[in-house]
Amino acid sequence: MDKKYVIGIDLGGTNTVFGIVDANGNIIAQNSIKTQKHKDNVNLYIDELCNELTALIDQTGGKNAIKGIGIGAPNGNYYTGNIEFAPNLPWQHVLPLSKMITEKIHLPCKITNDANAAAIGEMTYGIAKGMKNFILITLGTGVGSGIVINGKVVYGHDGFAGELGHTIAIHDGRPCPCGRCGCLETYTSATGVVRTAIEFLSKSKEDSLLRAIPSNRLESKDVYDAAVKGDKIALDIFNYTGTILGQSIANFVAFSAPEAVILFGGLTKAGEFLLKPTRIAMEKDMLRLWSNKIKLLVSSLKESNAAVLGASALGWECEE
Ligand SMILES: [Zn+2]
Repeated sequence: MDKKYVIGIDLGGTNTVFGIVDANGNIIAQNSIKTQKHKDNVNLYIDELCNELTALIDQTGGKNAIKGIGIGAPNGNYYTGNIEFAPNLPWQHVLPLSKMITEKIHLPCKITNDANAAAIGEMTYGIAKGMKNFILITLGTGVGSGIVINGKVVYGHDGFAGELGHTIAIHDGRPCPCGRCGCLETYTSATGVVRTAIEFLSKSKEDSLLRAIPSNRLESKDVYDAAVKGDKIALDIFNYTGTILGQSIANFVAFSAPEAVILFGGLTKAGEFLLKPTRIAMEKDMLRLWSNKIKLLVSSLKESNAAVLGASALGWECEE
């Protein structure tokens, strides 16, 4: 086979990262653009993305060496090639992304949601290598999931399966960008942690390092830094976040009996501050059938690499 490369594109709410990947999973060239830069005009976004992609392709031996393009994007539909009503993206409609890119670059293109792409990356190159049944949960700006059953990502009837971030964790809870209330994402994403921080700081009078940071500048990393220093409110925030996450995971396990639940994304940097309460809550709510049987793991791949690698794996599925 003379097509020795694929392209992976990770379209995130903040950055769009893309790379050229070889058959062994090495990213041989990579670049990124700001997703929000052309938020009022998706055509300008596509133009910039395709220009940068073409530059990378030219650097690495030209289009003839590329088998196809795989894209991981919020609400990316594997069956239609569209992004459909993604709450964390600036373009709030049905966007035929695969078609638009193929028209400009003349390479075949496949798309799935970012969490499914991450699951494929983890299965091919990461901690899920050799696993046939697992659930990957992304804890980033939002919360997503990729469910793998019998070695295959579950896409469902319409291509959107695996939206565990929008299962309701707390009935009538926090408003979610999806338009409903109490979704897991509103508690266990990086933004959810900040919402918890603001809530806890206003409810309590207790001293906290977090009080020195204006609430509009507070980030989940600040909560982590404060937790490292033993800040009581910061520790409470992670306990609260992990407890809600663990309770939801116990429910998810009952659906597909996975070998492992793999956490992925920025918030996993909190390590045991998040994992310990998650594990405790998960085991507390777990059906006895699965007590102490389900591994709770953290992705072994670098965040940006995993998403690009996962997306790129779809490129091998492309028909020429
Ligand atoms: Zn939601």
